[in-house]
Formats: sequence, structure tokens, C-alpha cells
Amino acid sequence: MFDNKETTDINQLGEFGLIDYLTKAVEITEPSTVMGIGDDAAVLDFKNKKTLISTDLLLEGIHFDLRYVPLKHLGYKAVQVNLSDIYAMNGRASQITFSIGLSSKFPLEAVEEIYEGALIACKKYNVDLVGGDTSASAQGLIISVTSIGFAENEKIAYRSTAKEGDLLCVTGDLGGAYVGLQLLEREKQIFLENPSIQPDLEGKDYIIERQLKPESRKDIVELFEAYNIIPNAMIDVSDGLASEILHICKASKVGCKLYEEKLPIDPMTYETAREFGLDPTVCALSGGEDYELLFTVPQDQYDKIKNQLDITIIGYITEENAGCEMISKSGHVHPITAQGWNAFKNNQ
Ligand code: ADP
Ligand code: MG
Repeated sequence: MFDNKETTDINQLGEFGLIDYLTKAVEITEPSTVMGIGDDAAVLDFKNKKTLISTDLLLEGIHFDLRYVPLKHLGYKAVQVNLSDIYAMNGRASQITFSIGLSSKFPLEAVEEIYEGALIACKKYNVDLVGGDTSASAQGLIISVTSIGFAENEKIAYRSTAKEGDLLCVTGDLGGAYVGLQLLEREKQIFLENPSIQPDLEGKDYIIERQLKPESRKDIVELFEAYNIIPNAMIDVSDGLASEILHICKASKVGCKLYEEKLPIDPMTYETAREFGLDPTVCALSGGEDYELLFTVPQDQYDKIKNQLDITIIGYITEENAGCEMISKSGHVHPITAQGWNAFKNNQ
């Protein structure tokens, strides 16, 4: 990383110098931000709205691998992953705090790239960066993002309020981020064995982007607002569709029927999964990191949902005792499990 470039040692700036340097480009645009960076705490005012807060911790070697994740993408993704949790409550994200722990291997230019990515995400999603913390780390890079947002009380979509008879819907397509990761992992192995071979990612842009540069679904929350759709329950797809479905069903004390043939899978995801000898359905169910929204709506909302190009109805909610099941393309019934892989194969 930055081996061939001239770099600046962070120690030259000191902690306050670094904070000033990184945050000089920060602009405040949200009406709810009263005070951003520069005091002991940010001050926010959501008037009569409920406040939403969510936080994530990202550790080098656990959540990301800097051998194939560009730093700018990492900053961007760290923000997206977090905003996704606010949208999953059917809320508007308005602020984040961004904290970093840096080991000595990171020069100023590295941190600058992370921030550049984070600030691009903030700007694109109209979110103010209102604070953070900066520290040295004994080993590796640590990023923690907290996102803050707001929603009207009646519009907040919890996991626990899905109702029997609801339509089960998902946005976008599934499995792409996971298949993209398989591709990056394979190229990393080839590179480690022979550094002179350039990665072969030709024509795979979509799934690589799904992995490296996910987009949280602010647009869906806006669509709900525009069409006056209020989901009964909602969650974002971070761990995999199967796991998220089970979260909603468990929290809401309901069951569900999911139809394999309805799962939205992009053709590139499908083909690449096949190339890797993976079942595209299993990638969609258990892949994770798609950051799409999974939600349920009452059946009388069908007319509003059916023509939305980026929303797919994948099943419906049943009573609890019926269990959580997937109907396969061949008509077989499989229980949905969080770790779809082996359990799934055994049932076929
Ligand atoms: P304190 O000693 O109160 O923790 P700091 O010196 O750490 O204060 O931070 C000073 C200001 O800079 C605060 O407003 C804080 O939120 C902000 N800040 C610190 N680190 C970051 C960062 N990595 N990104 C954005 N803002 C930061
Ligand atoms: Mg501090």
C-alpha cells in the first residue's frame, strides 16, 4: 500500500492536526444539525420526530481485506452499510459520526482516501458528518460509524410487526455481493501465488461493485413516502436473505412461504455463481452484504407494489405454526435455515 508513492507520516500532524486536516472539507447541510464537528458533542434537533441511531464496527482482517479493498471504497462502504440500518427502519438518515483507529503502517494519504470515500457517500446521501474520534491502533485499521436519522413515529418499520397475510418483498437483486467476493478472493489467491499476473475481472463490474461499493436504499424510503406505502415490518439484507427472513418471522411470531422462482438474481450473479460451482439460489439466500431492504406490506398494498420495477414480491407471511419454508422451483418444500449451505443440500 502506497509503497511507490511519497507519503506523509501522520505523527508530523499530531491528533488535532490530523482531525483538522481530515475534516476541513466537511460541510453541514442538514437542517437538523445545530452543531457539527468542533465541540465536545454534536447538537441535533429533530423537532417532533423520533430519533434513530445505529452503529457498526469494522475491523481489518475481520470485516475487510485491504489486499483487494481500495481505501476510498472502504470509506464509502463503511458509511453505506450504516445508513442502510436507518433506511431499514423506514427513516431518513441525516448525520453520521466517523471514528478511526490507525496503526503505524498508514500514512496520511491512506486516511485521506478513506475520508474521501466517506465524504462522497455523505454528500450523495445528504448526510452531515458531525463528529468522530481518532486514535492510534496497535494493529490494523479500525473504523466505526454511527448513523443518526429520524422518522415519524407511525412510519417506523420494526422487525416485530409483520402480520399474517402480508406480502414478503425485497428490493433490487440478491447474491451479487457474495459472488463478487468469491471473484476477488480467487484473484487475490492467484496474485499471492504470482504477483505478476494482473487480476482478471473483465466484464464483472456489476458484482465487483456490489461487493466493494454497495448503495443503501434511500430511494426506497423515498418511494414509500411518495406512494404512501407503510411497510408493516422491515430489515436490511446484510447477513443474507434467509437469515433476515428468520429475524422478521421470529420477532413478529409469524411464519412465511418463500418462492425460489421469485428470487431476484442478476444474470451476471447467476452465471458467475455457476462458474464457481455455486448454487445461485444458495448465494441469494445466504450470501449477505447486498444491503437491499426486505419488508412486508398488507395485501391491500399489492397494486402499489406490483409495478415497482425494483421491488419483487417473493412470498407471503403465514401464521407461526406453519414455519418458515421455501417452495423450490421443482415444487419441493424446504425449511428456511440461516446457514443455508449444508442444511439445504441435505434436504434436497
Ligand atoms: P474529545 O477530546 O472531546 O474526544 P476530539 O479532540 O477527539 O475531542 O475531537 C474534537 C472534535 O473533532 C469533535 O467534534 C470530534 O467529534 C471531532 N472528530 C474527532 N475525530 C474525528 C474524525 N475521525 N472524524 C470526524 N470528526 C472527528
Ligand atoms: Mg476524541
